[in-house]
Amino acid sequence: MPDIRFDTYYRYDDLTRILRSLADENPKLVRLESIGKSFVGREVWLVTVTNFESGGDGEKPALWVDGNIHASEVSPSSACLYLIQKLVAEYGKDADITRCLDTRAFYICPRVNPDGAEWALADSPKIIRSSTRPYPFDEEPIEGLRREDVDGDGRLLLMRIADPNGPWKVCPQEPRLLVRRDPAEAGGQYFRVLPEGVLENYDGITLKVPPTKEGLDLNRNFPVAWRLEGEQEGAGPYPTSEPEARNIAQFVVEHPNITGGVTFHTYSGVLLRPYADKSDETFPAEDLWTYQKIGQKGTDLTGYPNISTFHDFLYHPKEVTTGAFDDWLVDHIGVFAWTVEIWSPHRQAGIEKYKFIEWYREHPLEDDLKMLKWSDEALGGKGYVDWYPFNHPQLGPIELGGWDHLYAWTNPPPQFLEKEIALFPQWIVWHLLISPRLESLEATATPLGGGLYRVRFVAQNTGWLPTYVTKIALKKKVIRGVVCEIELPDGAALESGQQRIETGQLEGRAYKDSAPTVWVADPTDDRVKVEWVVKAPKGGAVKIIAKHQRAGIVKVEVNLGSEESL
Ligand SMILES: [Zn+2]
Repeated sequence: MPDIRFDTYYRYDDLTRILRSLADENPKLVRLESIGKSFVGREVWLVTVTNFESGGDGEKPALWVDGNIHASEVSPSSACLYLIQKLVAEYGKDADITRCLDTRAFYICPRVNPDGAEWALADSPKIIRSSTRPYPFDEEPIEGLRREDVDGDGRLLLMRIADPNGPWKVCPQEPRLLVRRDPAEAGGQYFRVLPEGVLENYDGITLKVPPTKEGLDLNRNFPVAWRLEGEQEGAGPYPTSEPEARNIAQFVVEHPNITGGVTFHTYSGVLLRPYADKSDETFPAEDLWTYQKIGQKGTDLTGYPNISTFHDFLYHPKEVTTGAFDDWLVDHIGVFAWTVEIWSPHRQAGIEKYKFIEWYREHPLEDDLKMLKWSDEALGGKGYVDWYPFNHPQLGPIELGGWDHLYAWTNPPPQFLEKEIALFPQWIVWHLLISPRLESLEATATPLGGGLYRVRFVAQNTGWLPTYVTKIALKKKVIRGVVCEIELPDGAALESGQQRIETGQLEGRAYKDSAPTVWVADPTDDRVKVEWVVKAPKGGAVKIIAKHQRAGIVKVEVNLGSEESL
């Protein structure tokens, strides 16, 4: 096992080196491949984790896990890395992890957007939403604010500009904080606040905040309910126009064994589920019930609330977002997918029940005081910086200070990282263990005399989820049923039955009632039985292969024995 630290954030070269050693040192469990290049040309790494000795990943149900599609959300890469090292270290020790890797596979892409992450992790960080590709215009904004570390102290803070018409004033209870000026108040000292930066073509009066030159949001670039820039900022010119989005979409469609997905983001400390643009009522009821059960397990194991993006995480109550990866996994691929927003500075500060997005619009001063106390005590004062004078190149004497958002909010400060990302592996392993899984129950050959044998094969879905995973997948016809195939020895022929036969979907145990009452019955709809009559010379063997794209592949060999045993 390479030396991996979880109290630091790795840049691309170090991350690459660690992933290589994980694969080199654990060939039985880990494989590394590139699934394409980033805009700048960096390889995007994909790590497959399974017990390769019990079968290739393609023959097993799988779970997709990724992180860092958003540039400055780097703790998601650490969460992926933590998961990989946990799987490797605990294989053979932890019963669930061992069974999971013996029967199933993980596809883990720790850094979907390496270009954006390099900017965020630079000594003088540059913060953008996603891709470093200029969009929609390949030129500098004409005028206005450009976020930059103007005093060169390695932090991006806020600028406080004295202005008699400003909306903020010094908090009477805590002079380091700013609070809103009362609507009818006049005559005090007031301020405007802007992100730290320089002003291009400043006329001495007008403060403009233009969109950044790199205006893409890769998590709006997927082909689900995709909309043009005018309706959905950052969506790009067409769905999967950007290599980072296309890389992972292409991988997912080429791996139909994927049964679910977890995409790590920051921050808020929540497990978000689709849809982002539609009410829960649009889900088939069974899918919603199952989704809620998976979410509840996640809440039990991580402490993060599980919520719907549409119902509880809209940035504006009247506006939805579209083109997100998790929505695409649900709506087009038909699997259960989650956006996990790592880290809640609020909860760290002791604010337990808060409305994730609503909070920014309205919250009590008490919360600000709690957060400030947390910065003072837990972060040694590094989270919230008291205002200090600065002579700004365009604005003259102003003050810098306020929250160091990138340090305290965007990702866990390094000393808090490991504790936070250690919350997830158990739920993620559980999420994969609930997948459908095809297993052989019986494979026999009964001699009928005259060189004839009746071959009987029974397979079952031993997973909790049905083989189709979601009703959405069934409805949208993105999956086929179990296909059973018989291979005959030389000189043999099929007397009855088809060589290949599609037998339909198998149920799991996911939709069972909560207690066995008179309304409950458990028919064997989790089983499939196929029979063939084979005419074959003595002593041969037939091979039976049963496969389902989401439930895996079963291969058995049946000896035909001799007629004398009749
Ligand atoms: Zn994000």
